[in-house]
Amino acid sequence: IPWNAEQGWHTPSVVPYGPLLLDPASMVLHYGQEIFEGLKAYQQPDGSVASFRPDANAARFRSSAARLAMAELPDELFLASLTELLTVDRAWVPPAGGEESVYLRPFMLATEVGLGVRPSAEYLYVLIASPAGAYFPGGVQPVDVWLCTDYTRAALGGTGTAKCGGNYAASLLPQAQASAHGCAQVAYLDAAEHRWVEEMGGMNLFYVFGSGESVEVVTPELSGSILPGITRDSLLVLAKELGCQVTERRISADEWLAGCASGAISEVFACGTAAVITPVGTVKHNDGEVVVGGGEPGPITMRLRDLLTRIQRGTAPDTHSWMHTLVR
Ligand code: PMP
Repeated sequence: IPWNAEQGWHTPSVVPYGPLLLDPASMVLHYGQEIFEGLKAYQQPDGSVASFRPDANAARFRSSAARLAMAELPDELFLASLTELLTVDRAWVPPAGGEESVYLRPFMLATEVGLGVRPSAEYLYVLIASPAGAYFPGGVQPVDVWLCTDYTRAALGGTGTAKCGGNYAASLLPQAQASAHGCAQVAYLDAAEHRWVEEMGGMNLFYVFGSGESVEVVTPELSGSILPGITRDSLLVLAKELGCQVTERRISADEWLAGCASGAISEVFACGTAAVITPVGTVKHNDGEVVVGGGEPGPITMRLRDLLTRIQRGTAPDTHSWMHTLVR
């Protein structure tokens, strides 16, 4: 769907998948004015296709657009685009009951031709879809995490709360550093003090303190440079319902490492649309490493994962009306 100042959002179309034709002076190619979202759709037991809280993705897409000085796509158009594409391409939706889903990637780019540094006067909203297999085909496995102290992801006043391509461009070098240390994921600290845990490259972090009856689930508060994850927001609700005490507060890297070493922290997990929940196994950093719990997925991690994936697949009650039917 293209946008310009005269026509607003106009002439939406669904076309066969293929290359986008861009002028070499398109502003997105020079100044990175680009935002995106990521969400999944699942076939439900009744044969309909539903997505998890896409209204929240639509709202975050608008706020990302506002931060990047782009035109805001109305929520109705965002949601209608998901329905439209899945209606045309229904064959991509995997059967209900399995681990597969359809990953939906809405994005928007600045298409005005010009080399001056200013907001573009033209945008293009695009939606593509891809089949997504099971994130953990052989069963849930803890990931090793690189606690990064050489780079940060986002600073206060920057674009950390927006889902823009530039944030991920800046994460590629730290990600390569993590891989070189045998870690699948990077955990970032705040840019001001290099002390407070922010999030991972594409997931928010949770800590479980204690075990048995008195469990406290802690996640870093939204600092102003963390992406407000929709999975994070949902897990705060579900953890409370499971009887956990739930706290959003600052947690330092020292508290993380010392808590795992002493056993005060029994579980660490990360959450996001792609993996839903992934347990953290070992945390590595420039000065050593520490194993979380016994290196096995913990009970709170697995209960939350089970509950959330069942809500998404329509096999647990959707008591918060989080599921949104896209195609009947
Ligand atoms: N943080 C970052 C940096 C991310 O890219 C993502 C994935 N969108 C998340 C957190 C998790 O967000 P969500 O639960 O909405 O997928």
